[in-house]
Amino acid sequence: MMAKKILLVYPKYPETFWGFKYAIKFISKKSVYPPLGLLTVAALLPSSWEKKLVDLNVRTLRDKELKWADYVFISAMDVQKKSVKEIIGQCQKLGTKIVAGGPLFTSNPDQFPDIDYLVLNEAEITLAPFLKDLQNGTAKHLYFSDTWANIEKTPLPLWQLINFKNYTAMNIQYSRGCPFNCDFCDITILYGRQVRTKNKQQILTELNSLYFLGWRGVVFIVDDNFIGNTVKLKTQILPALINWTKKNKQPFTFHTESSINLADDPELISLMVQTGFNTVFIGIETVHEESLAECGKFQNQNRNLIESIKKIQRLGLQVQGGFIVGFDHDPQSIFDAQIKFIQKSGIITAMVGLLNAVRGTRLYQRLEQEKRLIKSFSGNNTDFSLNFIPKMNSKTLLAGYKKIIKTIYAPKYYYRRVKTFLGEYRPLTKNRGQFKLCYLMALLKSVLRLGILGKERWYYWGLFFWTLSTRPKLFPLAITFSIHGFHYRKIFEKYL
Ligand code: SF4
Repeated sequence: MMAKKILLVYPKYPETFWGFKYAIKFISKKSVYPPLGLLTVAALLPSSWEKKLVDLNVRTLRDKELKWADYVFISAMDVQKKSVKEIIGQCQKLGTKIVAGGPLFTSNPDQFPDIDYLVLNEAEITLAPFLKDLQNGTAKHLYFSDTWANIEKTPLPLWQLINFKNYTAMNIQYSRGCPFNCDFCDITILYGRQVRTKNKQQILTELNSLYFLGWRGVVFIVDDNFIGNTVKLKTQILPALINWTKKNKQPFTFHTESSINLADDPELISLMVQTGFNTVFIGIETVHEESLAECGKFQNQNRNLIESIKKIQRLGLQVQGGFIVGFDHDPQSIFDAQIKFIQKSGIITAMVGLLNAVRGTRLYQRLEQEKRLIKSFSGNNTDFSLNFIPKMNSKTLLAGYKKIIKTIYAPKYYYRRVKTFLGEYRPLTKNRGQFKLCYLMALLKSVLRLGILGKERWYYWGLFFWTLSTRPKLFPLAITFSIHGFHYRKIFEKYL
């Protein structure tokens, strides 16, 4: 095939909870994670093709780059829709052809008739037929698949296309799919309920690649549910990672996402901690049993959720939690109940969102049948908007949601939660953090921004000295949480 010039473009995120826009400034970074999907697509393209990548979260896209390219490849999630529209406009103006894939386009292909080629579902399956047709001059507008890719064949992401210095963490993927079936979640629609995993050698190769390219620090394993196949994790993957991490003098710490049943497996948690995992995000969703039943989150039902979280924390993992309000079964008392739970759990990073129906999900289908859908989902469930008519009065729901956000991120409550967590947290492994000048700068900036200029200054200094006197080894973590709290308050302040 004649060599082509490919420009991979990652659209900009708006300000979001997980974007950490206000926190990453403290360590002079531009974005949290690189675009793993596009880096993988780049590796699937012919090696003789010239490739460049522009992450709009890092810098702007120049017209001359678009003129250089034969094709612009875009991958995006719902939340990046606005930026996608702008990129389309810019490409159309210059006559550059666009190839698009990823969750936004896979779930909503009808919304993008002006994109030249939609290569949907998993690129490991749909990209090859598209490239073949392109070579023959017969490329079609739409490529999709109803089968799942064997991710043991997924290539190593083309890390060389990015500058590590711009990001706070690197990301890799170990598995796709989730065995559960929560009705609001599109993960099982996009990746299936059969968990597919990479093999041990692949994961070690990915880590080696990051290591030899010079990365040190946080690695986020992006799986939506890392523990979908616990047997393989416990017998093959984690023992191999533990060896690797010891051999290489613990260059990485790991974060991931998991279902709450992680709490039932102390052996698995212990292996994760020995590997260097220190944080796990868990979808708690709600403390109301009827609402859990409504959304099919059976794994969270009939258990003492607080106890499950404390168990994971005591074994050495910080728990970040996702919470939702707006279920049909939510009572008026749900807002206070969620606040009480979050405070008691010591979950510092509590992402509370309004329920929204994502296209393709069982929730979406039910609400469509009930004629309750009012608009498409923005992709950001913390932007105070609903895309369906709730059972609870909308004004009451929004006011209750506001109350949760206003309370849990108010310095008084936020810093209290940090102390609750740090007081009980017993990391089993040595702190693998390495000294970097940017961390010292972050400390100095936090003293100025939070300790001198910030409204939270009394709480900041309270935590500062409390940690130094009672949990000195956790001092860097305390400063990190203070900075994160600042970010969360900035994100929500325009709504409050
Ligand atoms: S456990 Fe998480 S990833 Fe799995 S279906 Fe439920 S919300 Fe989705």
